[in-house]
Amino acid sequence: MNDLRTGADEVASALREAGYEAYFAGGCVRDWILGVTPKDYDIVTNATPKQVSKLFRRTVQVGAAFGVVKVLWPKDREYEVATYREDGDYSDGRRPDAVSYSQSKVEDVKRRDFTINGLLMDPRSDAILDYVGGRDDLAARRVRAVGDPALRFAEDRLRMLRAVRFAVRLGFEIEDATLAAIRANAEHIAAVSAERINAELTGIFRSDRPGAGVRMLASTGLLPHVLPFVRDAEATGAAFDQFGAARLPLDEAAQDVVAWALAVRDSAAIEDDLRALKLSRGQIRGAMALSAQASTLAAASSASVAEVMRIAADEDVARLRAYLDSAGETEALERLEEAVDALIASPLPPRPMLTGQDLKALGMKPGPHFKDLLKAVDDAVLERRVTDREGALAMVGRT
Ligand code: ATP
Ligand code: MG
Repeated sequence: MNDLRTGADEVASALREAGYEAYFAGGCVRDWILGVTPKDYDIVTNATPKQVSKLFRRTVQVGAAFGVVKVLWPKDREYEVATYREDGDYSDGRRPDAVSYSQSKVEDVKRRDFTINGLLMDPRSDAILDYVGGRDDLAARRVRAVGDPALRFAEDRLRMLRAVRFAVRLGFEIEDATLAAIRANAEHIAAVSAERINAELTGIFRSDRPGAGVRMLASTGLLPHVLPFVRDAEATGAAFDQFGAARLPLDEAAQDVVAWALAVRDSAAIEDDLRALKLSRGQIRGAMALSAQASTLAAASSASVAEVMRIAADEDVARLRAYLDSAGETEALERLEEAVDALIASPLPPRPMLTGQDLKALGMKPGPHFKDLLKAVDDAVLERRVTDREGALAMVGRT
């Protein structure tokens, strides 16, 4: 048994020894049944947040309003301990008007989104407690809303997008009535904040089947409301299929940038659209750079040697390679590879060869022309017309 599970068992026994109930709940039970090692264990209990906090030395109130206490356990482990709850009415389609704690674990699982996420496990025996039919749906590989799907989606519109994320990630189907309710209500996803939509889309892009994810967004009717600029869902889906393989050399942050760049590839206003989707500034800058670099490479004959070499020498070239490969930009990719090969065969000297300090040392007066001059020097280095500092100084001395 791994450390993470051992710690979860210890937290649960501490709760039980104090006279409370304690079960594992949600994603960890689903993953455990599927034979996937859970990445975290969430614990549910009838103890109130106050009672939970009293029991453990180190705790953090994470979602005080939602009755969640984070218990920090030795060996840097953290466990979320949530009090059984019953949600009140959802009048805004986003969050409950009131949350009340409950003594009933059955009430707690009934307010969860999908049956596969509504299973409990008794840590002592590994016995599964199923009050929502989640085991059958797991076996049949289906995502089904707990209760009436239309009502559940009216409570929290985000659940429609979560259904797609879980289906894509697990390789499941969305059950018919659940799917029909998504199709009927897809436009209402607009009630949800861009941040929450972004998080679910990121989850879909990071899954093993990002292309299937895009197609499922299209078939559920969610696509025009979450990625409104995508005109050709088939083409974008195909790009994301390829992205599944092309992204492998990249770390997760770089993969996300490539995915977003692919998502907005059809867009006329990339920056505005990415901003509306609440990407970070770095993500927006990265995605815009990919798009601009791809255009430069695609304009094969008109792109100067210096521009192509500058792109090939960029530290983020792996990101661009994955983007071009995913987007099927074969010619641009070939140009890039040629330039990268040339750099490997014959590396460039360190750049920038000159800085503003060098120009000042030559007695030049700082001003906007510095930028142009330094770029001209860099172009000359990239085209190998200038190979050392002396040559560079001679070049600016002549101007
Ligand atoms: P993941 O592995 O992606 O974290 P998870 O099942 O743990 O999957 P979370 O988003 O972490 O998903 O949520 C934990 C649990 O809380 C879910 O399994 C589900 O039971 C419940 N839950 C989360 N979000 C909602 C929601 N919007 N509506 C109802 N229940 C939800
Ligand atoms: Mg989780």
